[in-house]
Amino acid sequence: MELLRKRILQDGRSFEGGILKVDSFINHQMDPVLMKSIGVEFVRRFASTDVNKVMTIEASGIAPAIMTGYLLDLPVVFAKKKSPRTIRNAISTTVHSFTKDRDYEVVISADFLTPQDRVLFIDDFLAYGNAALGVMDLIRQSGAKLVGMGFIIEKSFQDGRKMLEEQGVRVESLAIIDNLSDGRIAIRE
Ligand code: 5GP
Repeated sequence: MELLRKRILQDGRSFEGGILKVDSFINHQMDPVLMKSIGVEFVRRFASTDVNKVMTIEASGIAPAIMTGYLLDLPVVFAKKKSPRTIRNAISTTVHSFTKDRDYEVVISADFLTPQDRVLFIDDFLAYGNAALGVMDLIRQSGAKLVGMGFIIEKSFQDGRKMLEEQGVRVESLAIIDNLSDGRIAIRE
């Protein structure tokens, strides 16, 4: 996706430890026009599937997920990182956070993830695939079906795609970063 590639090269910042900061247009301040284009691209890639629900994890996945759900005219549900006491029929799993280097619990209500759901998972980044693995566990526990996973940015050198594809998951990324060393950003053409 050319628009996204250009924006990452222009405004993204490469940090120690293979982290890309995109705080000025995705992770803190958000660009809704770019986010709409991201939604359009996810729709183009997944429109031929039988998806009937879009799923993500709070917080950074919500913007691209809601754009995609809006364009597909489908409901959007997000897994929560803290379990509210009022949540009903909770399903939970543990995810290891790469950026924060700690484990956290993600929770979703079985009221909103059911055996009738054919799920498209959308998130901001694919790194090692730990968040995606947690989502697969929630989907498995709920009896729903996973149709595919779409990421705004994939870091190819952290092997999340390999792990997911080995489990038969369809993975689509809108920008693929091949290298972040020496403060440079190498994006695949
Ligand atoms: P994974 O679970 O695939 O290892 O990491 C994915 C999650 O970690 C994403 O949801 C994202 O929030 C965060 N993450 C991983 N790598 C990066 C990165 O380079 N930059 C930012 N901003 N977040 C990242």
